[in-house]
Amino acid sequence: MKEKQQLKRDASVLLKNLAEAHGAPGCEKKVREIFREQMGGQVSTDRMGNIFHRRRGKGETPRIMLTAHMDEVGFAVQSITKSGLLRFIPLGGWWSHNLLAQRVRIMNRKGREIPGVIGSKPVHFLSDAEREKVIKVEDMFIDVGARNAEEAEKDLGIDLGDPIVPESPFMTMANPDLLMCKGFDNRVGMALLIQTMSLLSPEKHPNTVHGVATVQEEVGVRGATTAGHSVEPDLAIVLEGTPADDLPGMAEEECQARLGEGVQIRLMDPSAIMNRGLVNKAADVARMHGIPFQKAVRRTGATDAKAIHLHGKGVPTVVLGVPARYIHTHNSIIHLEDYLSGLRLALELIGELDHETVKGFTDFEGERESVGTP
Ligand SMILES: [Zn+2]
Repeated sequence: MKEKQQLKRDASVLLKNLAEAHGAPGCEKKVREIFREQMGGQVSTDRMGNIFHRRRGKGETPRIMLTAHMDEVGFAVQSITKSGLLRFIPLGGWWSHNLLAQRVRIMNRKGREIPGVIGSKPVHFLSDAEREKVIKVEDMFIDVGARNAEEAEKDLGIDLGDPIVPESPFMTMANPDLLMCKGFDNRVGMALLIQTMSLLSPEKHPNTVHGVATVQEEVGVRGATTAGHSVEPDLAIVLEGTPADDLPGMAEEECQARLGEGVQIRLMDPSAIMNRGLVNKAADVARMHGIPFQKAVRRTGATDAKAIHLHGKGVPTVVLGVPARYIHTHNSIIHLEDYLSGLRLALELIGELDHETVKGFTDFEGERESVGTP
């Protein structure tokens, strides 16, 4: 593998480009463009907008699906008021506490990115009762500086259904390993996907890796639901930005995604119980190579694994996550060391996935002999 500092520099550039690219669910064009370019144009797409690139190793099979979702949480224009303000609906999980006074971009059909701000009443005009309450998204509006509906529609080209994304520039923090931006869920997964695909050398993996960037994860893993049909994978590795939980308000003993403590191997969440053989293998490979990792049993949440592990007759799946603080807001923070742990684990794990190993994960016939034996 390349020298560590060089890898970090490459990762930072890629992460900046990916995180600043705007891609609300159903409007992932800009992220797809980066994937296409990074894969040298050798890609195909399906009818949902998922995009694919394959790297053949020593064998055509097993077919390994290495996947990340392209979309980020955003909004869509629901209506335009007479006075030119936009009402909007969330696409993906937002908490309204995180919204007021934040900058956004409206992506109009002509490709213009119109700046706006989610309006809020100045504190001076708030009653005591109003100060106490959480405002609902349906009571908020976006101000794009239009004087009336006609100006918003005709001059700015804004229409119903136009996607809206958070606006927040990429920033390196005082500690240069810490990066801050919107959209690390899941542009950190996308960066991992791109770098892993780029660093695969054909003689080092006994399989073929199908890199897949999916659409519309944040609104219910919709792209991943069709993506399996183009790949028909024997095994899947899902790359994610996962919520860090090392913060006040979380029980210390329940923390499973600490910033800087390594890549997270997700064992289960309410939408998927991962294949035990595969998650154990991932942990063994991490230990063998001294890659820091953290295991997680999640009480809530879902990823593309939800759809992928149920594809066809079933697909052994594991989720590798880079912890990100404050995801689904305008400013999330990730640690480059966690990112590198994810990159190393993905590469080393793929290197181990030969026929026999992959078959072993789903050998529910062969297990009969081992029952009862110590
Ligand atoms: Zn995600």
